[in-house]
Amino acid sequence: MRPECFKPDACDTTRIGMSLKQSDPHDARSLMNPAALRGYTHLVERVRLAVSMDREARLGLHEFTAAGKTYEFMQVVLGSGAPQRVLLSAGIHGDELAGVEGLCEWLESHAYMKFLHRWDITMLPCLNPWGYEHDTRENGDGRDLNREFNSSHPPQEVLFVQSVAQQRFDLSLELHVDADSAGYYLYETVRPGADIGHRVLERIRTIMPVNLDATIDGRSTDGGVIVRHPTFGNPNGWPMALYGFAQGIPCSLTLEAGRSPLQRQVQAHLQAIEAALGLCS
Ligand SMILES: [Zn+2]
Repeated sequence: MRPECFKPDACDTTRIGMSLKQSDPHDARSLMNPAALRGYTHLVERVRLAVSMDREARLGLHEFTAAGKTYEFMQVVLGSGAPQRVLLSAGIHGDELAGVEGLCEWLESHAYMKFLHRWDITMLPCLNPWGYEHDTRENGDGRDLNREFNSSHPPQEVLFVQSVAQQRFDLSLELHVDADSAGYYLYETVRPGADIGHRVLERIRTIMPVNLDATIDGRSTDGGVIVRHPTFGNPNGWPMALYGFAQGIPCSLTLEAGRSPLQRQVQAHLQAIEAALGLCS
């Protein structure tokens, strides 16, 4: 690990020319055989190629070691100088493929471009590379990274996220999967007046049903929205959204795609991203 490289301004970013061959965003492997996606090196190359297609896009690679193997965190920055800033992240739970796949497809399709007049976009496509490769929720040390954001000794994956989340963002969208849920739902961690969760869910109903249970995962739920009240004295491990809120991000949505084929989970996540960006503009 190179801690100095966790300061975003100090990191190398690469601008890659336009000479590389364009990737196929509908590569059959991606949706027909999820196991084929588990090579992290392949994922980095996929993102690198997609970034190379946009002259203004930048890819920062931040090297670290997990369980004896070297990986590179990816930080993609799209746009420059727009009035609002969004942080998109996926793969903090390594076995939740749809978020990683969704961000890659959104990047490859250039669908983000219609938002660049309003939004600077920072994308962290896969926050748990070891877990991604090994199809596990936890990292190589067996830690659930989304419970480590108030740890006195955070894992290096969390340190990386924290270094990014300390920048100013107006919105954070975290992509997850809950295979135990029959439908889509979300956690909302927001300042008063910044609640958009129900309106986001309205936009994805045509793709995936919303989980309307009164409680989900033991938490009181209203129409698929779990309101997360920031309680900074909470002895339980902080999730990323709580850390972001403490850093001043006024609206974080933790998006949970329910049990469904991968392609439908991906499409629901992409619809939620675009709905949130539109609602917050
Ligand atoms: Zn998750």
